[in-house]
Amino acid sequence: MFIDSHAHLNSADYKNDINEVVKRAQDAGVEYIINPGTDLETSREAIELAEKYDLIYAAVGFHPHDAAKASDKLLEEIEKLSHHPKVVAIGEIGLDYHYNYSPQEIQRKVFTKQIEIAQRRDLPIIVHMREAESDTISIVKEEVRKAPNWRSSIPKNRYPAPKGVFHSFAGDSSLAWKVINLGFYISVPGVVTFKPKVPQKSKIVEVVENVSIEHILLETDSPYLTPVPHRGKRNEPAYVKYVAEKVAEIQKLSVEDICRTSNLGIYKLFGIGKFPEPTISYKIKNSLYLNITLRCDADCWFCDRKGEALVKGHNLKIKKEPTSAEVIEAIGDPKKYDEVVFCGFGEPTIRLDVVKEVGKWIKQNGGKVRLNTDGHGNVINHRNIVPDLVGVVDSVSISLNSTDPTQYGEMMRIDGEKYFPAMIDFAKEAVNLIGDVTMTIVDLTGGDEKKARLFVENKIGAKFKNRPYF
Ligand code: SF4
Ligand SMILES: [Zn+2]
Repeated sequence: MFIDSHAHLNSADYKNDINEVVKRAQDAGVEYIINPGTDLETSREAIELAEKYDLIYAAVGFHPHDAAKASDKLLEEIEKLSHHPKVVAIGEIGLDYHYNYSPQEIQRKVFTKQIEIAQRRDLPIIVHMREAESDTISIVKEEVRKAPNWRSSIPKNRYPAPKGVFHSFAGDSSLAWKVINLGFYISVPGVVTFKPKVPQKSKIVEVVENVSIEHILLETDSPYLTPVPHRGKRNEPAYVKYVAEKVAEIQKLSVEDICRTSNLGIYKLFGIGKFPEPTISYKIKNSLYLNITLRCDADCWFCDRKGEALVKGHNLKIKKEPTSAEVIEAIGDPKKYDEVVFCGFGEPTIRLDVVKEVGKWIKQNGGKVRLNTDGHGNVINHRNIVPDLVGVVDSVSISLNSTDPTQYGEMMRIDGEKYFPAMIDFAKEAVNLIGDVTMTIVDLTGGDEKKARLFVENKIGAKFKNRPYF
């Protein structure tokens, strides 16, 4: 199910066929549409549409183009409108130094005042930023700093509580990370489907490559920015599927993965939709992952195990550990998947019996099994467990994290001198007895990828993989 996080359906372009446009959106699987205002009148119209159609929600605010009109009195009206139950954000607001329809100084004042409305109302903001990156970021940064309680009730992971979205994002990856670290999503429009004029990647394609889908929302920005294959014609929310398909292609995920993850972002930010139930098995691309425990002997600083334990829109925060029978039930037919993977936010070898029982069952039923592990299973179980895994798993992925025991210990917040060599012994034994072993490091900026690759390939004889840090 798709969500179009940004469409101006009160635009005159739809005055003759809004019903058909909404119907086509529903037929295309669009579950919700967020319709932002651009001044007082369009904010009222956005609310009217939200009252008329269940799937439409509204945002209210003055666009930077209209900032010159935004007197204090009209901003008070905006604040009043924001109490409407279907108003989910203040937007769209921001700075536009490309057209400069309103003087820049007024744009900055009106932007700041509207962020303050959002803070008083504890609502998120929808930000428009065009050729005004440094001013936009510095205003947002300052407003975030001044209001530590803004959106603080939202459950946090290692990123700040989400406070808004930079819609129709047009910056590069480094700007995207700045925005994300301030507690904002970036939203991707149909521009991502455009063929670049020169034979190189467009900026937005590069951003989508480098930023996890966890931080990305989808939008059409209807009636503008119509995606391929309808480019040149009027845009409409039904076309958000083309955006999703392109993002899925770039991220090498399924459309379902993209929508599930970004819809959870919409839920966290705007409170629209629902929070997923905790799950024992979860599908990403065509692999099925098994979430058998939240316990771990390590405590990696980058792990969300003790936080929300969300991964690609799946909720892994199980209340109790499942029995083998429950895991098997949650798998269904293992032949349907490329592989079934013991994974989750926890160390599977803590429940070695379950791994063995379920792994055997999967193989008997024609499935392929992979174990994702921190490689501490021998320490955890006080013996060499690799022989137990023969005939149970087809392949093993081990988090190497670092080739330096001290750094390894620091990252995982454990005794590196003890666990690093134990992990290496486990890996070597797995190469000998199981064969198909991959060691991964998290792609942190400036990591020693080359060194890690040589170490894994030459010293251990395993495959090497750099997995992205999200
Ligand atoms: S080893 Fe894995 S599950 Fe355990 S804390 Fe680290 S990242 Fe989380
Ligand atoms: Zn807009």
